[in-house]
Amino acid sequence: MEPNELNLIELAAHFSDEDKAREFLEQQCWPEGPICPHCGELDNAFRVIPRKVGSKTRKGLWKCAGCREQFTVTVGTIFADSHIPLSKWLLAFHLLCSSKKGISAHQLHRMLKVTYRSAWFMAHRIRYAMSQEPLSLKLQGVIEIDETYVGGKRRFHQTNAVKPGQRAQDRLAPFAGKQAVVSVLQRGGRVQSKHVDRVTAENLRSIVAQNVTTGAHIITDSSTVLQGALMGHKHDQVNHRDKEYVRYEDGVCITTNAIEGYFSILKRGINGVYHQVGKQHLHRYLSEFDFRYNARKVTDGERTLQAIKQTGGKRLMLRDSIGTRN
Ligand SMILES: [Zn+2]
Repeated sequence: MEPNELNLIELAAHFSDEDKAREFLEQQCWPEGPICPHCGELDNAFRVIPRKVGSKTRKGLWKCAGCREQFTVTVGTIFADSHIPLSKWLLAFHLLCSSKKGISAHQLHRMLKVTYRSAWFMAHRIRYAMSQEPLSLKLQGVIEIDETYVGGKRRFHQTNAVKPGQRAQDRLAPFAGKQAVVSVLQRGGRVQSKHVDRVTAENLRSIVAQNVTTGAHIITDSSTVLQGALMGHKHDQVNHRDKEYVRYEDGVCITTNAIEGYFSILKRGINGVYHQVGKQHLHRYLSEFDFRYNARKVTDGERTLQAIKQTGGKRLMLRDSIGTRN
């Protein structure tokens, strides 16, 4: 099946059967033959066929000819130890990969007929599969960098006016309770977002060093913090305070419209779909939105397959980071 044909109807029709779903996963994760998760050997394993009817041998079991260990396609992946049928996992992958603003655990729970708790874990495991290594390829060319603040509830209606008897410093800061996110976006290319405790020049410097090549042309708004962090880089600013949003210099469009467009999708997702995001989990939601943005030019089916292929070797760290729900 061509990846662009993969849609919800195809998934429901062809992979609702557990054996077929597993075979599909094997094809996607092991295009060049089974990979032993114990010793890493490629295509040197054989299927363990149950000898008699009613045998307790697990379906989809393989045995490595190298280290003699047994394994299935889900060992060492985000599916490990899950009692949710693989067919439901595939549907969850598709829903999360094709919904522009994400899909809530409540919605998954209702659509897939799994408990809310299971849906919550599934969504977080899928987000984990979506996470991408920042160092794999640094961003280059024209780069837009900006910060935004997400989540947080205002405890009372805020105005700029100081109430009688209130000192100016008693008012909540505009970003009180909100989490800071810094994103680095290569124009026409990928975005990489990071949750930071505070937006400081030091934090920004390390994000830029990790994600951006030295010769890149960086464009930001007129924030002074960003200015301090970008010493040594070619850097242009748009001055939003003076109502400047776009200008052209030597054929380069000086604007931060691309990153602001990304932030608007992120905020509509976090505010409109997820409502409240625990700050210890925010980085996973950022992985989700980054992943969808980075795969924005392919079909929903191709995006789903890309996420499914990223499931391998991603179990151990998951336990550390998704221990509790809140
Ligand atoms: Zn092996």
